[in-house]
Amino acid sequence: MSGTPALEADAAAIARKVAPIAAAGEEGRVNRRLIQALGEEGLLPRLFPQRAGGSREGDISAVDLCVVRETLGRESTHVENAIAIQALGAYPIVLAGSEAQLRRWVAPLAAGKAVAALAITEPNAGSDAGALELRAEPDGKGYRLTGVKVFISNAPDADVYTLFARTTPGAGTRGITAFIVPGDAERLTGVSIRLISPHPIGRIELDGVFVPRDQMLGEVDQGFKLAMRVLNLFRPSVGASVVGMAQAALDAAIRHAATRKAFGRPIREFQAVSHQLAEMATRLEAARLLVYAAAEAYDRGGTHVARRSAMAKLFATETAQFVIDAAIQVHGAQALEEGHLLEHLYRAVRAPRIYEGTSEIQREIIARDLFKDLPS
Ligand SMILES: Cc1cc2nc3c(=O)[nH]c(=O)nc-3n(C[C@H](O)[C@H](O)[C@H](O)COP(=O)(O)OP(=O)(O)OC[C@H]3O[C@@H](n4cnc5c(N)ncnc54)[C@H](O)[C@@H]3O)c2cc1C
Repeated sequence: MSGTPALEADAAAIARKVAPIAAAGEEGRVNRRLIQALGEEGLLPRLFPQRAGGSREGDISAVDLCVVRETLGRESTHVENAIAIQALGAYPIVLAGSEAQLRRWVAPLAAGKAVAALAITEPNAGSDAGALELRAEPDGKGYRLTGVKVFISNAPDADVYTLFARTTPGAGTRGITAFIVPGDAERLTGVSIRLISPHPIGRIELDGVFVPRDQMLGEVDQGFKLAMRVLNLFRPSVGASVVGMAQAALDAAIRHAATRKAFGRPIREFQAVSHQLAEMATRLEAARLLVYAAAEAYDRGGTHVARRSAMAKLFATETAQFVIDAAIQVHGAQALEEGHLLEHLYRAVRAPRIYEGTSEIQREIIARDLFKDLPS
């Protein structure tokens, strides 16, 4: 890990301290006590700039975001997910919001007093986010929003949705605007969705929800660019979170191989097992390096940031799936028992290959960038 050791140590200590609160959460619902504790312990504020109620001088760096998410991924997926979704929901406002919007909407999120969500996906617009249909129609001093968002992390419990809506019909990615929508807005309803995922997720429906103009985020029709900026920042950190999870799986597999006996000796003495551990460790290290290289490129405004973010997310999520699956194989049946760390990680590692752009979409981003400079 190439980030700040103090941040790593603090994040690990806080994750252990809040573990009982994380464990007491209700499946499928936002764990408000956990988010509040992460605010009080000072970890959430460390992700936000002082101008948005946080404790950092500036916006979070991609490397620091990776350090926090890798550490938490290793310690607790529940804590990791809680922090990550909060930051993901809040950062469009941090990046594009006015001073007044930061004070009103982000400060409570940075303090853990309110819960955020990012709402882009719709029933007919997943990978093809530019096809989203939720309508935002001008109405007096604001807009009326009508449509459905699905697979939204932290829905339907979130207090603040950063929501992307269609302001210009037929304009594809150039006709989308971001809005801040409070979870208790009139005519907004929602339900939970049960999914293989360690965090709450749901669907919301907006039936003519009125949003005043001062809750529009950035410029009209510029929302898609904002969403891409946020995703470029967060994609390497999705990789970091699963690198942390895979590290926990590898550590468990090494401990198990050293102590479990078969045919009169520890199974580490079978080359099939020890070489598999070597393969897991090597691939995991390659994933980690790719993640931090992408994050550093983002922070210094390097070239091919989108391509590198996509590579990091693609390689790390696919690698983590391999490592966790292989760790289960090294353990045998006991890893599949309900409540076992690996049984949990096996379920948790699946969704990151789908959210924030599927593996196929990451390859598409990389491939397009490879041909970008050639004459068409
Ligand atoms: C746990 C979880 C949490 C999520 N949280 C959020 C959230 O907080 N906010 C939010 O807005 N969304 C969220 N999502 C939704 C997520 O972003 C979408 O599921 C994702 O973008 C893929 O869309 P889809 O599921 O509709 O799949 P589809 O777009 O229907 O894709 C189906 C298949 O077709 C492939 N495919 C599609 N287009 C192409 C192409 N051009 N080239 C090659 N293959 C292609 C895909 O890779 C996939 O394999 C979440 C999803 C999950 C699973």
